[in-house]
Amino acid sequence: MTKRLAVILIGLGLLTGAALPPTGPVPTEKPPAPADQPAVPAPTEKPPEAEESVPVPPPVPAPDPPPAEDVVPAEKPEDAPAPAPDVRLPGPPPPARGLPPVPGLQPAKPAAIRVAPEDPAQFAACQSELKTLGTVFETAAPIDDGEGCGMSNPVVVREILPGIRLSPEATFRCETALQLARMTRETVVPAARIALADKGELKAIQQASAYVCRNRNSAANGKISEHAHGNAIDIAGLEFDKGSVPMVIAAQDDGSFPAAFQRSLNAAACLYFTTVLSPGSDEAHKDHLHLDVIERKSGYRFCR
Ligand SMILES: [Zn+2]
Repeated sequence: MTKRLAVILIGLGLLTGAALPPTGPVPTEKPPAPADQPAVPAPTEKPPEAEESVPVPPPVPAPDPPPAEDVVPAEKPEDAPAPAPDVRLPGPPPPARGLPPVPGLQPAKPAAIRVAPEDPAQFAACQSELKTLGTVFETAAPIDDGEGCGMSNPVVVREILPGIRLSPEATFRCETALQLARMTRETVVPAARIALADKGELKAIQQASAYVCRNRNSAANGKISEHAHGNAIDIAGLEFDKGSVPMVIAAQDDGSFPAAFQRSLNAAACLYFTTVLSPGSDEAHKDHLHLDVIERKSGYRFCR
């Protein structure tokens, strides 16, 4: 009997003991949590955040120097942000060719990329207008390296306008020459007469690069430069009767006449060229004015 009672008592004890703990702690845990958290952490967290944000700015201004990286992003501006497929010259697209790719094997070296032909009527009209402007030029044989560099109808320009040389003479597309001639006549010469009157008359445009078979910003890889299609010209300076004027970075707060001249040149160029990279627009363009006549969808112009 006593044994049975003991077993029953023990059994009851276990049952009640097991049932008590869960019901006990639950009500006591809940209250402390919601009561403490909102009040304490909120005020104490804010100050640390503010302090953390202070030391952040110093590291930010540091990343100026790396020149290698700067060149890479600098490539993009030479095109538009939304680069339409490089529409260069009117004409048939580069022929698709070659054998179907064999899985697991490197594709064979692509066949030659032929330069698209210039539209004959447009080329004739361009030459006619150049002659009217008095540009001293001659046509040259097609350039085509079979890898995308070249143009079907190069012109070699010695004087962009009568008495104003292109120094050295430049080989590029007629359209590029025409826009440069117009810009020189309508904006460069008049602006220089106002801003640089003490220099005398414009005698030459010092060009740093016209047709060149290379990638953008002369990078080893990447997209081919508009220079490689004869679409671009880099202006390094202007030569006057009484000295030369280099292309310079003209800060907005520079109130000098030469700076005002440079800024007006940068802005006016966008009326003639679809890409304008002014001195200082990026790492690759510090000491010259890049101009090109790339055609983009909707006639978008990229001027910086
Ligand atoms: Zn250029």
